[in-house]
Amino acid sequence: DLGSDVEVEADVADDVDEDDLLGGLRIDSTSEIEVPDRLVDQVIGQEHARDVVMKAAKQRRHVMMIGSPGTGKSMLAKAMSELLPKEELQDVLVYHNPDDGNNPKVRTVPAGKGEQIVEAHKEEARKRNQMRSFLMWIIIAIVLGYSLIIAGQILLGILAAGVIYLAFRYGSRGSDAMIPNLIVNNADGAAAPFQDATGAHAGALLGDVRHDPFQSGGMETPSHDRVEPGAIHKANKGVLFIDEINTLDIRSQQHLMTAIQEGEFSITGQSERSSGAMVQTEPVPTDFIMIAAGNLDAMENMHPALRSRIKGYGYEVYMDDTIEDTPEMRRKYARFVAQEVKKDGRLPEYSSEAIEEVILEARRRAGRKGHLTLELRNLGGLVRVSGDIARAEDADVVTRAHVLQAKGRSRSIEQQLADDYIERRKDYELQVADGYQVGRVNGLAVMGEDSGIMMPVMAEVTPSQGPGEVIATGKLQEIAMEAVQNVSAIIKKFSDEDISQKDIHIQFVQSYEGVEGDSASVTVATAVISALENVGVDQSLAMTGSLSVRGDVLPVGGVTHKIEAAAKSGCSKVIIPQANMQDVMIEEEYEEMVEIIPVSHISEVLDVALEGEPEKDSLVDRLKSITGSAFNPEQVS
Ligand code: ADP
Repeated sequence: DLGSDVEVEADVADDVDEDDLLGGLRIDSTSEIEVPDRLVDQVIGQEHARDVVMKAAKQRRHVMMIGSPGTGKSMLAKAMSELLPKEELQDVLVYHNPDDGNNPKVRTVPAGKGEQIVEAHKEEARKRNQMRSFLMWIIIAIVLGYSLIIAGQILLGILAAGVIYLAFRYGSRGSDAMIPNLIVNNADGAAAPFQDATGAHAGALLGDVRHDPFQSGGMETPSHDRVEPGAIHKANKGVLFIDEINTLDIRSQQHLMTAIQEGEFSITGQSERSSGAMVQTEPVPTDFIMIAAGNLDAMENMHPALRSRIKGYGYEVYMDDTIEDTPEMRRKYARFVAQEVKKDGRLPEYSSEAIEEVILEARRRAGRKGHLTLELRNLGGLVRVSGDIARAEDADVVTRAHVLQAKGRSRSIEQQLADDYIERRKDYELQVADGYQVGRVNGLAVMGEDSGIMMPVMAEVTPSQGPGEVIATGKLQEIAMEAVQNVSAIIKKFSDEDISQKDIHIQFVQSYEGVEGDSASVTVATAVISALENVGVDQSLAMTGSLSVRGDVLPVGGVTHKIEAAAKSGCSKVIIPQANMQDVMIEEEYEEMVEIIPVSHISEVLDVALEGEPEKDSLVDRLKSITGSAFNPEQVS
């Protein structure tokens, strides 16, 4: 049943609760989950790519796979080799050519025959050598005997014996030339070959002839014995996988194309000045299916003719980065943990709580509501690290605590840096985290891809001599200007205040290289209003959000990491855009530490952040009294 989905084989509840993290699996550990034999059945998600691979295997078509690293491209290529017929596998032998030593002959025989042929030749050579040795010793004995008895010349006898010995030794080298060189051996025949030629240099890809340092004088290795196959030859009747195809040099891409077109490719020495370059074999079969992989630019940079070759005679597929989070899929992720445990071979089994923690991490890493990450190489890394921790403790099973510990260890550089900053700032008491302060707001930013950092913003408003200016420090100048522009439009609408006549100083306290500030505009606006109206801002609160000209709070990236950073820095409340609520996937340990306050308008931000009741009819009073809907574009315009 090609293309069908393989259900997880384990005890599953009849009535599965939609929210059950294990998708209804009733197991104590991974030992109760069956791991399918075929690699293709172990692939999680990637339904489209899997269908294509199965179809391509049947029709012997090439495939181009585009997608993120660690999503299963090489796994699928290998799985494809398991699907190809084993009956057609061949062995390839290279023979000495008596007419032209530099043009060795090539013979193809059914798989398994190659070893037999080589054995037979060796046996013959052995017999011949035995015969020779026997003859040699007879002659030596006769010569020595003659010298001693008849002529009485010991020295002469020994000298003659030595000459005879050497003559026989070198003479016997000639018989090695008769033994063929088995360059492709499919004797084990378990599956069609799978060759990963990612990053291979020309010799490894196209085959090579070793240089012979003793090119003459009876010491040389016969040329056919120096022939080495390339991945294109070893992949014959199987799969040739090349990731990052665009990094292959153009000459190799051209040769690869020839091999695909002709179905055979002679082996010759790859380094031009070596003795190997004089040698060229008869054509060696290269009847493989190619799976070329890479990211999107790989496709643009690969040799156009090679690309069109695949396009015209094969398939192109895109790999998914995430998959919908359903009970069935979660069961598969549980099986994924079982697969990785089995593949590693040394890890303890996973307890059900530990599996749940891995599935939670798959959710977090997806960065998308209702999805699980398919970057499974990395998730497999977490499985292995957790298992290693358990093993180091001599634990029988991997527990949830082990997985949590492993997550701490496999933090990215950015996360480690961010934690370090937080620690150091705690030392210097730069974080306030309680009381009220005018013009100072705890903003939140993202560093790298996966770590948050608290970044306070300070604002001061002073009368200006000329037209007002926005003065901000550092790289975040542009963001500050934009935020101030938006907030001044709002302020103008609600008061007589015209802040364009004032100088506004914005300082991002301790902003760091690499910090993204595009989500700081709500923070900047709040700081400006606080400074303008001289009202204190709650310092136990942190916030993130982008601000529109109408005062709407728009969604931003990285909320989960930001909330965690706020909690780590000692804040007890975090304001986030309402629209980001669905992206919140914080770790349990932080859930208790912070209250998350979703907002959709700046008025709600001020309501939560500013101190006390505003004076009647003040700007803050007016701003606070409006609701988000008053700013709805449809209603305003
Ligand atoms: P790629 O070739 O896309 O970089 P690989 O196929 O080498 O990724 O994946 C590395 C490992 O990650 C695999 O050996 C497997 O253990 C795991 N893995 C990746 N993708 C999947 C998947 N879709 N299903 C199951 N395991 C996967």
